[in-house]
Amino acid sequence: MKISGTTRLAGIMGWPVTHSRSPVLHGFWLDENVIDGAYLPLPVRPEHIAQALRALPILGFRGCNLTIPHKQTALSVVDRIEPLARRIGAVNTIIIGSDGSLEGRNTDAFGFCENLRETVPEWDPAGGPAVILGAGGAARAIVAALADTGVAEIRIVNRTLAHAAALASDLSAPRVTITVHSWDEVSTAQRQAGLLVNATSLGMVGEPPLMLDLSSLPPSTPVVDVVYVPLETGLLAAARRLGHPVVDGLGMLLHQGRPGFEAWFGVPVQVTQKLRAAMLATLASTR
Ligand code: NDP
Repeated sequence: MKISGTTRLAGIMGWPVTHSRSPVLHGFWLDENVIDGAYLPLPVRPEHIAQALRALPILGFRGCNLTIPHKQTALSVVDRIEPLARRIGAVNTIIIGSDGSLEGRNTDAFGFCENLRETVPEWDPAGGPAVILGAGGAARAIVAALADTGVAEIRIVNRTLAHAAALASDLSAPRVTITVHSWDEVSTAQRQAGLLVNATSLGMVGEPPLMLDLSSLPPSTPVVDVVYVPLETGLLAAARRLGHPVVDGLGMLLHQGRPGFEAWFGVPVQVTQKLRAAMLATLASTR
């Protein structure tokens, strides 16, 4: 990468930001497309997020991504919020308009859908209820995504029922029924399900394992894990042994970066096997 007087700028704001894989992801696409652009890690303390976002157009940035702890606070800073980001309650992508205004978007739902469609193209949203394990930020984006794809029933299973109830209330929509379940009910919830998604941090390196009995899940139901370290989680290994189609979390991470890149640098990008291999090498070296 060469920096010139015309280099287009984007980046990611977080605190801390050193863990983020986004600079590697966007750096890959910049190199692949030979774009005069740079994507920078921007360590921004929580108390400085409004000033930092407002400085972006002044400094000539095209926009940025947001990670922990800025995704919710940015809602009250930006000039416009895309309806999907408002429903999810979090912004992960900022696009600077030609007038210097800040638009907040959420691309996690897009990333989830693209990854699912690419890996299991035969998946049918009308094929049965979706079971989502978890009610945090990832689960909110996934529930919004599934409601928009036409899934008629979504069953949320979560440790803290109040979090699941808040999600169900915030993301209620006319053509979808969202129900809330404790972990004691997870086997019943899996009956007749057309999709199972782990959106908890269980199974991630350093977290407790996800112990799940899949015997009540129909054998052809796809199983998705949003955890991507490790790539092959215990859940995915068990599902694969039982013959379920499986979807790992890396694709969601990569696809969610596409809309921002395309808006900032003006070039459509894809998730290729070469990109997956480059990201896997990064994940292995920073574990
Ligand atoms: P949050 O902290 O917002 O939510 C965590 C969820 O996990 C909550 O539902 C929480 O339940 C549940 N949970 C955590 N620990 C336990 C436990 N010991 N037992 C039972 N439930 C537990 O995190 P996120 O939603 O942001 O992230 C969740 C996972 O998804 C992470 O591993 C993250 O890396 C991954 N992720 C992947 C993305 C991708 O692109 N592939 C994108 C975003 C996230 P409770 O409500 O009871 O606390």
